[in-house]
Amino acid sequence: MPLRLYNTRTRAVEPLKPLEPDHVRVYVCGLTPSAEAHLGHARSFLFFDVLRRYLEHPRNGWRVTYVQNVTDIDDRSIATAQLEGTTFDVVVARYYAAFKEAMRVLNVREPDSEPYATKYVPQIIEMIGELIERGYAYVAQDGVYYAVETFPRYGELSGKKIDELRIGARIAENEHKADPLDFALWKFAKPGEPQWASPWGSGRPGWHIECSAMSRALLGVPFDLHGGGYDLIFPHHENEIAQSEPLMAKPPMAEMWVHGGLLNFENRKMSKSLGNFEPLTELLKRHDPFAIRLLFLQTGYRKPMNFTEESIAGATSALRRLQRGAREMRRSVVGRPLEKELLRPRLDDAEREFFNALDDDMDTSRALAVLFSLDIRSRSFASAGMGADALAKFRAFADVLGLRPAFAEDQLIEVDKQVRLSADFVDRVVLQFPGILPPVHPDVVEGIDPAQVIDKVIAARTAARTAKDFALGDRLRDALAAEGIVLKDSKDGTTWTVAGA
Ligand SMILES: [Zn+2]
Repeated sequence: MPLRLYNTRTRAVEPLKPLEPDHVRVYVCGLTPSAEAHLGHARSFLFFDVLRRYLEHPRNGWRVTYVQNVTDIDDRSIATAQLEGTTFDVVVARYYAAFKEAMRVLNVREPDSEPYATKYVPQIIEMIGELIERGYAYVAQDGVYYAVETFPRYGELSGKKIDELRIGARIAENEHKADPLDFALWKFAKPGEPQWASPWGSGRPGWHIECSAMSRALLGVPFDLHGGGYDLIFPHHENEIAQSEPLMAKPPMAEMWVHGGLLNFENRKMSKSLGNFEPLTELLKRHDPFAIRLLFLQTGYRKPMNFTEESIAGATSALRRLQRGAREMRRSVVGRPLEKELLRPRLDDAEREFFNALDDDMDTSRALAVLFSLDIRSRSFASAGMGADALAKFRAFADVLGLRPAFAEDQLIEVDKQVRLSADFVDRVVLQFPGILPPVHPDVVEGIDPAQVIDKVIAARTAARTAKDFALGDRLRDALAAEGIVLKDSKDGTTWTVAGA
């Protein structure tokens, strides 16, 4: 079965069939870099990065042209520039550089093309001219507007009805449009605002027309896949369709519309006013970027998702576990032929299951489960002399998911050091207290999180103190202290910290 994706336009999971053989043309709505980006912005770009990697993978073998625009002019960049006594492009350059660096750290590949809206003003003006000429747009006192009622299919993508939209829609005091549903294609400049000349008066483009004009200029219409976050379906993508399709001989402008689910933070939308805003650059200082990627992959791209400190902690330990598994596979052991025979089909199964999962509307959570299934057998692969084969497959899968650098040689050497340290730690502490601390089998000692052992020591100490065996309690405390772990007692119980941390 070929790759199938959920198409918002048809509301069905459909096979992706490129319009040009072997070439997939993708347009994804990019960032408006007029303020700091947060993780919610990154979610969509992380997904389209994985999709793009899979489209180009030999399994599909398509050449991909990936365009992701930059909305470099909007009310906020103008306002911020005025506040700072600078120009909008300086504001945009600053925020966009921070965003690009965050994308690099998250291992998101650069788009083939990153058009800035202000660099496509001639194409935008040309398109607005065509819309006016054909009766889809009109000039008003404060700008050029799109007349929504001229396009009967308006609302089809989002499933909204024009009549229902009109109820409750208002014309703001400063607007001069004919119908509350109409939206601006061109905004005439107010004094002191950045502006470009046009046949109707100098001003700047509206947000929606930028994407219509730039996708037409850079990919040509129709193209294969238009993407963005779920919140862009209405009105942004609805408006793009209304602008682009009346000028086309054969709509739709994009065969497939693919939308990523939204992200909440501790059950709420991230926003400065709610006080839970954390810029992407700050978040990336606190968390392993590959753990963030893994967390998104676990959820799948379409589901709404809630980001919590617990969820990222879980994803971080999952990543560590996979790294330990990959490290295990690196061990070269002379294999036994019989074991090899038994294990070989496991690798083939893994390959089939991995790609079946991605073909099924990019089910990355299932694809990730394949990596965990290899991890579980890492020791068996190594002892059968198949460690290298298993690791090669594991890394190939990780590559499609954009996780490959987390399993690079230097990373695994680092994990090796940590595992040895923690294994020694577990050994030293546990062996001192036979009969008091539960024994750990030598085979699993390396997989044990020292924190679990510390918790056991604390529990044993509490029990000893309750039984008035203070000498044992002190010995347990001192054993941890010798490893640099400091206990702190309070009425709520005992907590621990690493000395000097
Ligand atoms: Zn757009």
